Amino acid sequence: MDIGFIGLGSMGGAMALNLVKAGHRVRVWNRSPEAAKAIEGAVPVGSPREAFAGDAVMTMLADDAAVRSVILESDALEGATRGLVHVMTSTISIALVEELAHRHREAGIGYVAAPVFGRPPAAASAQLNIVAAGDPEAIAKVQPLLDAIGQKTWRLGDEPQRANAAKLAGNMMIALAIEAMAEATALTESYGVSSADFLDIVTNTLFASPSYKSYGALIAKNSYEPAGFKLRLGLKDVNLALDAAAAKGAPLPAAELVRNNFLSAIDQGMGEMDWSALARVAHRRAGIER
Ligand code: NAP
Repeated sequence: MDIGFIGLGSMGGAMALNLVKAGHRVRVWNRSPEAAKAIEGAVPVGSPREAFAGDAVMTMLADDAAVRSVILESDALEGATRGLVHVMTSTISIALVEELAHRHREAGIGYVAAPVFGRPPAAASAQLNIVAAGDPEAIAKVQPLLDAIGQKTWRLGDEPQRANAAKLAGNMMIALAIEAMAEATALTESYGVSSADFLDIVTNTLFASPSYKSYGALIAKNSYEPAGFKLRLGLKDVNLALDAAAAKGAPLPAAELVRNNFLSAIDQGMGEMDWSALARVAHRRAGIER
């Protein structure tokens, strides 16, 4: 297919490369142009509008502010080929998804919400799990693109915001898993049982699941750089989950607590570290310096 790709950060760069490898013709745009030149086999373009051409465009920008400025406040939608499908893989707010779906309808182009589960290594090996919602015909059209970046597409119906609700709920659960490991290791370290020894037990028995294993390994090593998923983006996602739940009157008290701990971590200079650095907040409070 002839496609555009916007946003070539830790995730997007790997996804764009996999689309090239799968044989698609890919035009790429990124705010910092060096990242676009680094995608071998892709064609760098000078504006988001030039990416909105051909059969489809995929976007993997950081957050609401980035999506708003690049997609809604540029001339990208107005200039897009009619019938083109825009696949939005960023983790963004439900309110923005609703606005995007409306603006795409007005511009006569398709909108598929397709946020992803998986860290940069999963993006690099095309093993992402994609949660997709939107017009079934539009999803069918872009399925070859989703197949090129992920291992499975989980479909959640034709209302785009459903995919984002599921993504936000999943990320909230990872944040709670990190907090659980942070507090549990603060307890064990206080009695001389190292985080590495304790996490080796629980991540191979009670909690032998991917999130516990991958973030547990970082907590065990006390090593949070370079970040797979930046702590400031983790705070963004917990805030998005809280906002989405508040809009429907659903209280999330545990997520509130984790949000405050993320704020403490950022106060302590950890915003660019992996979000599992949340463990350092619990450890420092317990007087443990590792
Ligand atoms: P990242 O490495 O920080 O990359 C962010 C991208 O957004 C870069 O291309 C950056 O451009 C661009 N950007 C940020 N602010 C912008 C602005 N105001 N205007 C234009 N471009 C802007 O982030 P990432 O880890 O790839 O995450 C991207 C998205 O995927 C986020 O929504 C995140 O929540 C989601 N996600 C991440 C992971 C993960 O483990 N990393 C997993 C699943 C989902 P520059 O290069 O110019 O800075």
